[in-house]
Amino acid sequence: MARRRQIYEGKAKVLFEGPEPGTIVQYFKDDATAFNALKKGTIAGKGVLNNRITEYVFTKLAALGIPTHFIRRLNMREQLVRQVEIVPLEVVVRNIATGSLTKRLGIEEGLQLPRSIVEYYYKDDALGDPLVSEEHITAFGWATPMELEDMTGMALRINDFLTGMFAAIGIKLVDFKLEFGRLMDQDMVRLVLADEFSPDNCRLWDAETGEKMDKDRFRQDLGNVEGAYQEVARRLGIMPESDGPGDHKGSESIQ
Ligand code: UDP
Repeated sequence: MARRRQIYEGKAKVLFEGPEPGTIVQYFKDDATAFNALKKGTIAGKGVLNNRITEYVFTKLAALGIPTHFIRRLNMREQLVRQVEIVPLEVVVRNIATGSLTKRLGIEEGLQLPRSIVEYYYKDDALGDPLVSEEHITAFGWATPMELEDMTGMALRINDFLTGMFAAIGIKLVDFKLEFGRLMDQDMVRLVLADEFSPDNCRLWDAETGEKMDKDRFRQDLGNVEGAYQEVARRLGIMPESDGPGDHKGSESIQ
């Protein structure tokens, strides 16, 4: 198969030129990084699972009226998406206190937050993705006030929907990170959800046992990272059968 031109290689994904102008192929790797890439490793089969989980979540969100960059899954590790200009922000939504929130503000670990909190981080590896305020974002032009309002509104709607979706399968959605992109739509610029939604960028706790089912297993060396990701996929009803060679079809059989 002719290899497409690589556009970008990130920590967990590689982007290739898509088959038509304005499209991109997102390839999900098994590579994992944490602590601003100080910790590196691989999680066998992670790319396959994250490709499926992202497809599942983005498809559900699209049905809800949240615009996304997702077009369709191509095979076990690749999905076709619309080319967008990524807004240089990580939008984090939190429901339960953990991670950097507890460290930065001394909030008790595991505290159910009085309401969902949205935070913004400026995407810059060299700076370690610093927390920024709405003032920084609009003053420095990373997003317009309207775009910011749009992203925050979508993030909260996504949180409401996904909290319920995960609760139904015995999982607490603790927090997650989103990225948005600008899409040229005729003469209009539209914001759409981009990147991915997977256990790499959210925290999922088993509702019964409190067991971690996300990348914290890798960050904190808790073991059985693959098993946890697989369990999330299994409960969502999207457990892929195999990552064997030649398994490029079957995307239509999902759901
Ligand atoms: N997150 C992410 N990418 C980042 C930083 C955070 O996907 O570069 C996700 C992380 O998995 C968690 C949420 O955003 O679900 C909040 O992370 P937090 O600010 O607590 O940072 P951490 O403790 O991971 O450093």
